[in-house]
Amino acid sequence: MVVILLGPPGVGKGTQGVLLAEVTGARHLATGDLLRAARRDGTEFGRQAQGYMDRGELVPDRLIVDLVCEVLGTLDCETGVVFDGFPRTVPQAEALAEALAEAGRQVDRVIVLEADDELLVKRIGGRRTCSTCGAVYNVFFRPSRREGVCDRDGTVLVHRADDDPATIRRRLEVYRQDTASIVRFYEGSAARLERVRANRPVAEVQDALREAVGTP
Ligand code: ADP
Ligand code: AMP
Repeated sequence: MVVILLGPPGVGKGTQGVLLAEVTGARHLATGDLLRAARRDGTEFGRQAQGYMDRGELVPDRLIVDLVCEVLGTLDCETGVVFDGFPRTVPQAEALAEALAEAGRQVDRVIVLEADDELLVKRIGGRRTCSTCGAVYNVFFRPSRREGVCDRDGTVLVHRADDDPATIRRRLEVYRQDTASIVRFYEGSAARLERVRANRPVAEVQDALREAVGTP
């Protein structure tokens, strides 16, 4: 099954996407994570993306589509995929539809996670991530057992550079500009689109998500 998680920054796409992928055996494919890994590795691709990311702008479609197609090419056709943070523009959605069609596949479910901006800003402000394993914590809502240190591997947690207040505002604006058209795109497609309120505890959101996706 191919599932797309749509929603503003901080709504919980990564948190929920990891859990959903675990329970369904799907691959969690988060373009933001892939971009940050490319930057850490110092690749040409990461270098090209960094200015856009630091300003809270979208990385050009061509770069993102190449990145996603490269990963999709490594998966066999049976492997489910949970997309997180992709697609973010209609051209990306069109390119995804084309790439999937070539493999005889299609987008099955589109889930729009929703929460108010005030909560998103608080969640993003408190987000801390592990640069080794990608685990995501929150100083207000989901703290690590030992402050500032990853529960899994002991790495010192970081506050993402683009999680500062000015860039958060810009990222929310960018999301609002592009999302309406993405939602319209999927409303006119064969995929089933469901909305899930994400201003609830992680487990409750996960239950609603599984119900929307049709996974027990
Ligand atoms: P996104 O991938 O949509 O940007 P994340 O999954 O990284 O969002 O979540 C943003 C922050 O909010 C993280 O610090 C995460 O731990 C926290 N978070 C996610 N879902 C919830 C929730 N349901 N309740 C409280 N905090 C949450
Ligand atoms: P995220 O981790 O999803 O919050 O993404 C962090 C940043 O990576 C965004 O602000 C963009 O600069 C970039 N990015 C991630 N995914 C995409 C995408 N699908 N299209 C364009 N830019 C993206």
